[in-house]
Amino acid sequence: MSSDRPTLATVWLDGCSGCHMSFLDMDERLLDLFAKADLVYSPLVDRKDFPEMVDITLVEGSVSNEEDLAKIKKVRAHTRILVSLGDCSVTSNIPGMRNPYGVQSVLERAYVDTVSIPNPPPSSVIPKLLDRVRPVHEVVAVDVFLPGCPPSADQIFQMVDDLIGGRAPHWERSPRFGA
Ligand code: SF4
Repeated sequence: MSSDRPTLATVWLDGCSGCHMSFLDMDERLLDLFAKADLVYSPLVDRKDFPEMVDITLVEGSVSNEEDLAKIKKVRAHTRILVSLGDCSVTSNIPGMRNPYGVQSVLERAYVDTVSIPNPPPSSVIPKLLDRVRPVHEVVAVDVFLPGCPPSADQIFQMVDDLIGGRAPHWERSPRFGA
């Protein structure tokens, strides 16, 4: 770990925020974790730039657009232990269901076929979709996988507590799919 107190971050790519809700479901155990480590970047804290180096980063969601891609590459470059958190991150899960249809078909479905006032799909402001939604490990190296949709608060607590303590996570407590 980088200093006396390990640092922790969470990142939200293409996911429903359910994995972050499960993180919050640790309830009072969050106090136990934050007695040992500092949360330095997250949708849950007000910090805009990813820090120079973080010890442990949990990543929710898949890599679906150009913004996700740039973000996860930056996060990987500035993280010691990268955790793929939840099925969207591990397998691409729900976001990946668009993969068989192609980007153009999906955009037309969303912006033309199913709306009362059709518009051309946006060409600016909204990040461009990648041809395929990808799990995080297809884009950058991942050190730890925690599947589940979402992983339970118990599983997240055990994993983070193990990593903060320098221990290998206890995988026998984690199902491969589902919480
Ligand atoms: S794994 Fe499930 S809970 Fe987590 S972001 Fe994806 S759909 Fe939501």
